[in-house]
Amino acid sequence: MFGVVPKTLWSKHQKSDELNRVQAAFNCFVVDTGQKRILVETGGGVRHKAIAKERMRLPERPIVLGEALSAAGFEPDSIDIVINTHLHWDHASGNTVDTPEGAAPALPRAIYYVQRGEVEHARERHPRDAVSYLPVNYEPLIDAGRMHLLDGDFNVMPGLDLRVAPGHNRDMMVVLVRDGDETWCQFADLAPYAAHVTPTWVAAFDLFPLETIATKTELFHRAAAEGWWCSFGHDPAISFAKIEVEEGKWRVRPDAR
Ligand SMILES: [Zn+2]
Repeated sequence: MFGVVPKTLWSKHQKSDELNRVQAAFNCFVVDTGQKRILVETGGGVRHKAIAKERMRLPERPIVLGEALSAAGFEPDSIDIVINTHLHWDHASGNTVDTPEGAAPALPRAIYYVQRGEVEHARERHPRDAVSYLPVNYEPLIDAGRMHLLDGDFNVMPGLDLRVAPGHNRDMMVVLVRDGDETWCQFADLAPYAAHVTPTWVAAFDLFPLETIATKTELFHRAAAEGWWCSFGHDPAISFAKIEVEEGKWRVRPDAR
């Protein structure tokens, strides 16, 4: 998760178990405009093999996205739009549910957005990362015309923008929401943990680490200058934080809201 950063440094931010595993969340967010409800990410899903459960120490009974949404006051059929920042299994496995007729949209009324280049890369089945892509999370949605494939940056509606942020892979998007003079950004795997706020802290998963550094440097400077609320793909403790930079030192200030 922390790439070439030595454990002596990252262990100050993230505890690990005896096998060096760190706690990870599959962070999903709902944007409620009053007129539309938008779900950002659908998490790791429930289709885990026993061996994967053991290797990753996943909970015996995984959280079901629909149940988690209902518990938070958002019924699955009230979601209008789903945004997949990218299609890695740990971000998109709540997209569909299994029914006797096959995989069906888990958000029954929603349209789903993802980059076309991400789908093309997923379909390449490249040996480096094919394991991260489960076709059941996107092919049934594409077949049913429910997944819209985007060609670059996209304005979903006033105040809601998707921006291609290369590094983690070629076509991952960050999500920007603006309301008045406040901005929220879901950085997804551009910054999996708040500890990745230092632009050179790059996960070993990333296909293009130098691009990660460039993209993070640009976006984090804007986030710091404009006081954005920032969220991270997998941080189990910090949901929203502000970023500060002083004399080249990056830091996050979590907020309890
Ligand atoms: Zn990813």
